[in-house]
Amino acid sequence: MKGLRAVEIAKADGLDTEVYILECGGGLILVDVGFTPQCHESISAELGEMGVTWEDVKMIIITHAHGDHMDNLPQVRGLTGAEVVIGEGDEGRLYESTGVKADVILGHGDLIGACGGVEIVHVPGHSDGNLCLYLRGYKTIIAGDTIFGDSEGNLEAPPEKYCEDVVEASKNLSILADYDFDALLLSHGKNTMAGAKEKVLKLIEVCA
Ligand SMILES: [Zn+2]
Repeated sequence: MKGLRAVEIAKADGLDTEVYILECGGGLILVDVGFTPQCHESISAELGEMGVTWEDVKMIIITHAHGDHMDNLPQVRGLTGAEVVIGEGDEGRLYESTGVKADVILGHGDLIGACGGVEIVHVPGHSDGNLCLYLRGYKTIIAGDTIFGDSEGNLEAPPEKYCEDVVEASKNLSILADYDFDALLLSHGKNTMAGAKEKVLKLIEVCA
């Protein structure tokens, strides 16, 4: 997708892990920052390929305050000076774990005006402040860990061992039924580039 890049950064616990870069007029938005020097290198390499640098990143959105999504934040914040955004409920954990205080704490329905509109979708359960991002202009949801996938593109609710409240995490998937989307981009597992809403509706049925 033009202006939207998936960066494969690691295999963690047997799971592929991805972060996303949104290329908007006026700067880049980085969605999650990974957790190891290798993750950092992968993002650096992608920025190089794009012909940009860390300093071009103006905003960092952390989908939720779990280590594999945020541990590199102090370093990335230092390199970019970017504004750090997180969902309401995860800001304390972000600060405790990384020492970085979020600049902006967003809740359900909040809108970031860049990149054709990035709407905040709060789906608590995986963590209290767990977010999906609805990219209006792309009819795409960046799901973070709200949904997991396998290597074939089958979807599932986040596994219990990773969730703060697994019952809520499953139940709240129904929130996604309110959005009009074709593509679903995950942090862990194969992305679905078309027909994603139908697959998610089926998952919601299974999880209800
Ligand atoms: Zn994760």
